[in-house]
Amino acid sequence: MARLLIIEDNDRLARLIAEGLGPRGYRCDIAASLADGDAALAAGRFDAIVLDLGLPDGDGLDWLRARHPAGEPPALILTARGGLEDRIKGLDAGADDYLVKPFALDELAARLRAMLRRPGRRTETVLRVGDIAYDTANRVASVAGRTLDLARREADLLELMIRKAGQVVRRPAIEDALYRFDEAVTPNAIEAIVSRLRRKLDEAGATGQLHTVRGVGYLLRESTA
Ligand code: CA
Repeated sequence: MARLLIIEDNDRLARLIAEGLGPRGYRCDIAASLADGDAALAAGRFDAIVLDLGLPDGDGLDWLRARHPAGEPPALILTARGGLEDRIKGLDAGADDYLVKPFALDELAARLRAMLRRPGRRTETVLRVGDIAYDTANRVASVAGRTLDLARREADLLELMIRKAGQVVRRPAIEDALYRFDEAVTPNAIEAIVSRLRRKLDEAGATGQLHTVRGVGYLLRESTA
């Protein structure tokens, strides 16, 4: 699932974007200032940034010029400044795309998809462990070709575990992958998601199994039995 940082000081708009993109496969964190954006980027990995320009602690353009070397997540500028010169300035400052407010959520989603498809960006693929397959582009899991019906966090967990197949994944890494940094996580919540996913895999007769490594975390590997 792509992880998106929305740097936008209009709280209502930021939440609308986050709520609209959630069902389209994005996990969104919101930063209300450039300083908050820096803190979020330092704390976690993001696939893309949606950047407003008029922010309380500075201009997004200056921020982009100052801190957007190659290898940073690609940034889409989302602003009311719609003039030709503004758009050229934005792209020259290092933005990968530029969208003018007011905008349609569907167009924002399509532009983000296009941005993430570019070479050198996120690669979408089908990951496999035993007869479990996970299509990261469409977020569809299957066992021996039969689609599994997974809730959002179960799918996030499966994607994480299948990317790290054969390794023990520690609980903090799981919490980080399944929850935004501003969401509280109870210990039982992770246990519950793990046991639901494990039950669905078992019921489907998957040859990959989700093991508990007591006191450490979890491990997905192909059963050798
Ligand atoms: Ca603003």
